[in-house]
Amino acid sequence: MFADRAKIIIRSGKGGDGHVSFRRELYVPNGGPDGGDGGRGGDVVFEVDEGQNTLGEYRHRRKYKASDGEEGGKRRCHGADGKDVILKVPEGTVIMDAASKKVIADMSGDNRRQVILKGGRGGKGNMHYATATMQVPKYAQPGQPAQELEVLLELKVIADVGLVGFPNVGKSTLLSRVTNAQPKIANYHFTTLSPNLGVVDMEGDGFVIADIPGLIEGASEGVGLGHEFLRHIERTRVIIHIVDAASTEGRDPVEDIYKINKELEAYNPEIAARPQVIAANKIDAIYEGEQSPVDRLKAEFEPKGIRVMPISAVSGQGLKELLHYVQELLNTTEKKPVIFEQEFFPEDMLMGENLPYTVEISDEDAHVFLIEGPRIEKMLGYTNLDSEKGFSFFQKFLKESGILEDLEKAGIQDGDTVRMYGFEFDYYK
Ligand code: GDP
Ligand code: MG
Repeated sequence: MFADRAKIIIRSGKGGDGHVSFRRELYVPNGGPDGGDGGRGGDVVFEVDEGQNTLGEYRHRRKYKASDGEEGGKRRCHGADGKDVILKVPEGTVIMDAASKKVIADMSGDNRRQVILKGGRGGKGNMHYATATMQVPKYAQPGQPAQELEVLLELKVIADVGLVGFPNVGKSTLLSRVTNAQPKIANYHFTTLSPNLGVVDMEGDGFVIADIPGLIEGASEGVGLGHEFLRHIERTRVIIHIVDAASTEGRDPVEDIYKINKELEAYNPEIAARPQVIAANKIDAIYEGEQSPVDRLKAEFEPKGIRVMPISAVSGQGLKELLHYVQELLNTTEKKPVIFEQEFFPEDMLMGENLPYTVEISDEDAHVFLIEGPRIEKMLGYTNLDSEKGFSFFQKFLKESGILEDLEKAGIQDGDTVRMYGFEFDYYK
């Protein structure tokens, strides 16, 4: 396991319950209800922290919890809100629901802060429930429950260019060489086994290269270390294939390109389709006489639109040309950063608790009550009202959501009709 991945449990705070109490004052024998509202539960918030570049912090602790809202008090006292829990992560962290692997948030680009789990709403105290007929309300609303979720955090680095190749072909050498060659290039470290990022400054232009270590055969199936690193290529817009053109370890460079592209294709065909360039490295070590491996690479890949550029990461030969060509590829591909879209909405777990709805009396008939809003639509979408189980669930929903209460406030009487999105029933207390 590397520090660019972590699985944790997060939990928002429960809303504080509303309070039931009655005013007690000298000379006031039967004071009205004065139970205050409960406080809001704390949120679970993720924030980008520029100073952080691994998820190491999340490897030691499993559970992160916001605090609960406090119960309301006597004399209309509002309970204190729960404290949020703020989780700082490096830019590029993708937050997923651990069970489904669906994306909840991508902490990159403009997204610097996102509430992932909302704290529960505080319940209303009994001071809200006094009516002409009910002067001594013994009821207060409970606070909304907390939400808990296991999430998977994955760091997918933000780099324009991915450097891929088998071990010992010269990736690290190239990265450090590019750094040494240009004093304005910054080079910063992730952990030793995580990708290294280098910033290349090209007189006004520039780009970030990620050296993706450990890409080996079978990586797309999770063999060896490879899979751990493939996700770091996901955001890159251009790929530099680096091969050992001198076959110093007996590798065949043409075969290597096919193997790696096969891995990329299996992992994500979209990545394999991005612009590529082949850096034929170690040309300083090629013996004269045999057919030039650079020519072999060119004959094989240039008809396919992939340019082959001979370099020596050690002597520096061909590096300038390579960097310029990479810049050109970047300038001609769409500048759109790769952002992972949200596919999982934690608030759905609450059946749309926070969504609005309205209760209205129909214009045509004072005995018809209309309920509308996304909250209702959502609930109806979940429920089969034709089944007995579905219908009793629906009744429970009306009660717990506060809709019944709202109907009563609106003055509904036994025998009146409730209508919602084509569905209709008669109200009896
Ligand atoms: P990586 O595993 O792809 O990061 O490869 P390294 O950068 O660690 O290099 C592996 C070996 O190849 C080292 O011994 C380097 O000195 C050597 N090497 C890298 N580039 C060149 C080159 O252009 N010419 C020669 N002759 N050797 C190189
Ligand atoms: Mg290396």
